[in-house]
Amino acid sequence: AGKRLYLGMDFGTSGARYALIDEEGNILAEGKRDYSSFMNKEKVDLVQSWKKTLFSLLEDVPVSLRSNIASISVDGTSATTMIIDGKTGESLSKPFLYNDSCPDALPLVKSIAPENHTVCIGSSTLCKLVSWWNSCGSNKDSVVLLHQADWLSWLLHGKLGVSDYNNALKVGYDPEIDSYPPWLLAQPYSFVLPSVQAPGTPIGYMKEDVRTNFGFSENCVICTGTTDSIAAFLAARATQPGKAVTSLGSTLAIKLLSTRRIEDSRYGVYSHRLDDKWLVGGASNTGGAVLRQMFTDDQLEKLSEKINSSEASPLDYYPLLSVGERFPVADPDMQPRLHPRPESDVEYLHGILESIARIEAKGYNLLKDLGATPVEEVFTAGGGSKNDKWIKIRERVLGLPVHKALQTEACYGAALLAMKGSSLKGR
Ligand code: ADP
Repeated sequence: AGKRLYLGMDFGTSGARYALIDEEGNILAEGKRDYSSFMNKEKVDLVQSWKKTLFSLLEDVPVSLRSNIASISVDGTSATTMIIDGKTGESLSKPFLYNDSCPDALPLVKSIAPENHTVCIGSSTLCKLVSWWNSCGSNKDSVVLLHQADWLSWLLHGKLGVSDYNNALKVGYDPEIDSYPPWLLAQPYSFVLPSVQAPGTPIGYMKEDVRTNFGFSENCVICTGTTDSIAAFLAARATQPGKAVTSLGSTLAIKLLSTRRIEDSRYGVYSHRLDDKWLVGGASNTGGAVLRQMFTDDQLEKLSEKINSSEASPLDYYPLLSVGERFPVADPDMQPRLHPRPESDVEYLHGILESIARIEAKGYNLLKDLGATPVEEVFTAGGGSKNDKWIKIRERVLGLPVHKALQTEACYGAALLAMKGSSLKGR
């Protein structure tokens, strides 16, 4: 028999990763594949490259551990939309990628959706669907809409037309009433919408051909997934209301677990459901990209060592790469502010790090003012989380404990979802 293991797979923008974990969350195996290695230069077929990546990751899982895998969950990039033939499961058009925009559909979507709804941006899944629907002349009777994660999971469980309420948010699903809203169900294309489950819900056993090909157990279940950024949040295991994850990569993104759902389109703030809680998020344009423009990573490390993190920097900046900010200040005309520049680079860097920390604090304050559970503890991820001095500065500015997240990979979060699903099986 052996231990029960859980497999998570993350399909990101350029490639996919897997993590195989045990009940305690230890990683037993992990790996990565780029889509580009499965791409034909003459004819780019993303869908085929995702499929090949999926099966090559399964091949990368050590043979001796495969039969112990109790469940699998797959996450994908948010709003990556596929139009699928409901009879064959094949893709009927090129996939719409997460950042593709369909402004042609926006007037129509705005005319049916409530004001400022999440679907009212050109890159929403609903705009992609409407754009396809209105441009496709052929027979649409057996069409199914799936997100990237749904389709990849289908390759494993074979039940067509299943999604999760995180992926389905941007097509208009309302996780609060656990249904598509009436205004969406009234549309002629509503029959293409997938059925929706909580992330990490067991959908079915692994298809027999896949199972026997790869040597998985007949008890291995495939669970619904989530989006890649939610999977990355789950990886940090911030499971109580008031726990948050700040990601300091090129930009600054905060995600807070809250008992209340909050939405404010002015700031780009919205909430994803996670079982009986809400994952509230906001993203600022400040972040590491500004640092990278001025310093190499090596310089950042050396200069940071010399910063006295217990002292507040008097320098008040607003580091941005270009004009405009959305969160925690909604001002499309906001100018970057990085002056006056002191002679000392150590003082300059201290001022920038301190200023970004103030923006982080302001972000959490805004979420509280909008009604979210107040933040109690921050886990941190991304390139900026390596910087221990910055963590000290942030603890002082936020007045809260800040820890490096132990796990930050989305595939690890997907593996945790698989573990959750496995425990729900048969209930
Ligand atoms: P992304 O995936 O968003 O592009 P990463 O999570 O890889 O970003 O983080 C990269 C960022 O981290 C860069 O913008 C860089 O300036 C910043 N960074 C790297 N090392 C440090 C450091 N020691 N202190 C602060 N920031 C750092």
